[in-house]
Amino acid sequence: MGGVSSDSTQAYVGLGSNLQEPVRQVQRALEALARLSDTRSLRHSALYRSRPLGVAAQPDFVNAVAALETRLSPLALLRCLQHIEQQQGRVRHGVRWGPRTLDLDLLLFGEVQMQSPDLTLPHPDLHRRPFVLYPLYEIAPRLLIPGRGAVYELLTALSRDGLEVLNT
Ligand code: AMP
Repeated sequence: MGGVSSDSTQAYVGLGSNLQEPVRQVQRALEALARLSDTRSLRHSALYRSRPLGVAAQPDFVNAVAALETRLSPLALLRCLQHIEQQQGRVRHGVRWGPRTLDLDLLLFGEVQMQSPDLTLPHPDLHRRPFVLYPLYEIAPRLLIPGRGAVYELLTALSRDGLEVLNT
């Protein structure tokens, strides 16, 4: 964990896994986030079990959201997330919504709104994913998502069916 002082930004990361001991994968990733340089781990949500979207014939996912304070740039933080994914042997099957060892999404980076070939902020699907919004609400109930609105308002449009808090 790096010391973080001025010029830092609060960022939110979404974690998901449904292969190779998903609870352990998410816990390991939370530990890896806490060790990032120039970054401090502030808090994280409980772990949630969620039914897969899209490709149904696959195991349930385990999801969580972490809040970080960082002095890294958005792109540098994204590269760190991708490095952690690779470290944990992410399996890419080329199927969107398909099974994965570890998926890390940069959900929000302060109030930054950007669209580049490598990075879209806020994350483009954030506001329509219950397994992201419910954990986000747990750790930041009053959070505003730039261009989208308040988390607690966005939640009212999303069912909590298929989402359950895990006792870990
Ligand atoms: P996925 O396979 O769904 O994890 O998508 C990974 C790709 O999405 C990578 O090529 C990233 O550069 C791109 N991407 C764009 N915006 C984001 C974001 N906010 N968080 C994570 N990946 C992103």
